[in-house]
Amino acid sequence: MLTINQYVKAESLQQAYELNQKKNNVILGGMLWLKMQKKSVGTAIDLSNLGLDTIEETEDSYLIGAMVTLRTLELHKGINSMTNNAVSESVKHIVGVQFRNLATIGGSIFGRYGFSDVLTIFMALDASVELYQKGIVSMEEFSKMPYDNDLLVRVIIKKQKMKVAYLSQRNTNTDFPVLTCAVSNIEGTYRCVIGARPKRAVCLYDSNGILKDGITQESAEKFGEFMKGQIITGSNMRGSEEYRKILSGVLSKRALLKLKDYEVTSYAD
Ligand SMILES: Cc1cc2nc3c(=O)[nH]c(=O)nc-3n(C[C@H](O)[C@H](O)[C@H](O)COP(=O)(O)OP(=O)(O)OC[C@H]3O[C@@H](n4cnc5c(N)ncnc54)[C@H](O)[C@@H]3O)c2cc1C
Repeated sequence: MLTINQYVKAESLQQAYELNQKKNNVILGGMLWLKMQKKSVGTAIDLSNLGLDTIEETEDSYLIGAMVTLRTLELHKGINSMTNNAVSESVKHIVGVQFRNLATIGGSIFGRYGFSDVLTIFMALDASVELYQKGIVSMEEFSKMPYDNDLLVRVIIKKQKMKVAYLSQRNTNTDFPVLTCAVSNIEGTYRCVIGARPKRAVCLYDSNGILKDGITQESAEKFGEFMKGQIITGSNMRGSEEYRKILSGVLSKRALLKLKDYEVTSYAD
C-alpha cells in the first residue's frame, strides 16, 4: 500500500523542484502507477495548481503540460491531424477511457517505462522534454538518461511536415504491449522506434539507405529485416526475445507501408 505523510499543493515549479530533492518525496501525476506501489512517501507534491494541464499551440510547436491527460492528447485535433492520428492510436489501447482521463503525460514520460506506448510515439515524433533543472532535452536523449530528481514541466512537439504510423502488439486488448512500433518520416528522415522490448524504447534509423528511393513493397521488406537484425530484445511473461525480434521486423514493415499511403501532413492541415 502507498502511504503519504504530507501533501503539498505546489505554488511554483521552484517549490515543487526543491521539495522533490528529498529522497522519499514524490511528484504526483494521476497517481495510477504510484498507487500500485508499496511505499511510504514523505511529502506528495501536487502540480495541479501550476497551469500545466493544457496543450498550448505556438507558431512552431505544441507545448504539452505535464498534467495533460492521455485522453486530452488522444482527442487533440491539431496534434492528431499532424501525426496521421498516430498519437491517438498509441494511447487508445491503454486500459480504458476513465483511466486515460487520469493518467498524465508527466507520469507517463518521466518514468521511461519499458512497456511505454507513450515514450515510443513521442520519440518517433522527434519530441523534446522540458525539465525544470536540465532544460530542453530531446526525447531520444532523455530516454537514455538515468533517473534523477528533476521535474518534467512539458513535452514539446515541433510542427514539422511528417508522416507517422503507430502499431502495437498485445496478447489481449488493453493489456501491456508485447511490442510497440512507431515509424515516421520527418522532413525526409526515417525513424523506427521500437518499445516494450521489454526495455526502454530505442530509435533506429535507415542507416543503410534502404529507403533512399522511397517506399516500395520490396524496400519495406528489407527495412523490416534490417530492423529485426538491429533490435535488441529480451524475454518476459508476455513474450520471448525471439518472438519480439520477429514482431519488430513485421511491425516496422507494416508501419512503413502505412506511411506510403499517407499524405504528408503539416501543422497547417
Ligand atoms: C494497470 C496499468 C496498466 C497500464 N498500461 C499501460 C500501457 O498499456 N501502455 C502504456 O504506455 N502505459 C500503461 N500504463 C502506464 C500509464 O499509462 C501511466 O503512464 C502511469 O499510470 C503513470 O501516469 P500517472 O499520471 O498516473 O503518474 P503517477 O503514477 O502519478 O506517477 C508516476 C511516476 O512519475 C513521477 N512523476 C509524475 N509526474 C511527474 C513530473 N511532472 N515530473 C517528474 N516526475 C513525475 C511520479 O513521481 C511517479 O514516480 C499502465 C498503468 C497501469 C497502472
